[in-house]
Amino acid sequence: MSDRFQFSVSATDGHARTGVIQTPRGEIRTPAFMPVGTAATVKAMLPESVRATGADILLGNTYHLMLRPGAERIARLGGLHKFMNWQRPILTDSGGFQVMSLSSLRKLTEDGVTFASHVDGSRHFLSPETSMQIQRDLGSDIVMAFDECPALPATEDEVAKSMRMSMRWAQRSRDAFGDRPGHALFGIMQGGVTRDLREESAEALKGIGFDGYAIGGLAVGEGQEAMFSVLDYAPGFLPEDKPRYLMGVGKPDDIVGAVVRGVDMMDCVLPSRSGRTGQAWTRRGQVNIKNARHADDPRPLDADCTCPACTGYSRAYLHHVFRAQEMISGMLLTWHNLHYFQELMVGLREAIAAGQLAGFVTQFEAQRAQGDIDPL
Ligand SMILES: [Zn+2]
Repeated sequence: MSDRFQFSVSATDGHARTGVIQTPRGEIRTPAFMPVGTAATVKAMLPESVRATGADILLGNTYHLMLRPGAERIARLGGLHKFMNWQRPILTDSGGFQVMSLSSLRKLTEDGVTFASHVDGSRHFLSPETSMQIQRDLGSDIVMAFDECPALPATEDEVAKSMRMSMRWAQRSRDAFGDRPGHALFGIMQGGVTRDLREESAEALKGIGFDGYAIGGLAVGEGQEAMFSVLDYAPGFLPEDKPRYLMGVGKPDDIVGAVVRGVDMMDCVLPSRSGRTGQAWTRRGQVNIKNARHADDPRPLDADCTCPACTGYSRAYLHHVFRAQEMISGMLLTWHNLHYFQELMVGLREAIAAGQLAGFVTQFEAQRAQGDIDPL
């Protein structure tokens, strides 16, 4: 196991890459999908169950954890890994995006942002310096620079001003992070859907120097077509020898499209959130388990899936426990969804290594086009 943070690409296929990020807490195989453990738990899953789906790394949310139970408390209790019983790598976001999307009474200045907690209304302050301190208290392996993501719709001028402030904050994040061997700091590219702004942002970040680079400000409602058009050029502005992380993505077809365009890491609440609302993701598309057509169906959700939900239970059972609001419903569907997302990543990594990504994508799209299994 490496005592340093190190990324190596072992194969490429077109713009897509596969490789490994070495960290003192274990390897992260790329392209990687990171399940989201917002409040120090991937909802409805034990950490060992998350690992069993194939996850190498989790994402934790700085905003939620600083408000409850508090980063200093987690530090006193031995750090986030120990607190939540996940010994493998953890990436924490900077809190910037959640402040914008969840808090109220925000006051944004060059210094940082003051806001009211969505939990109890208490007042807090986040800045590049405080975000770095909180992520250090949590013990995060991959720390994200503190940035601002402008709310959409925004004019190009607003996006440019916000991006330039985020770049000044990126420098402050770098300075505050300091020298922490074995831990990584990622910068975040902004610039909306404007190519020149994306390039300007990438140049600013490269000038500061980071261990990895995130593409921020996408998957915020601009639509898949606009997102892919940015991903057609944005990864190319970033260094080839560092990981590229697309934040908050996505649906399976978003993931495939991002990997094809050169993205190495992604995260999304979708598999766990969908699991709690009766939505399953399979190789043949989305399945709504609450639909009455499943009530008498003895077949598994996906006969080819090896997860506990598919090997042990029928669609009829999954339908029943969802309707009855039993906790096992969210547990089984979340497990299935996370398993499917990680299987997709395995397939992508193997296809890139074999130089057969185009064929993989064709098969992925053909299976989705089939739709869910035939009626009984
Ligand atoms: Zn399954």
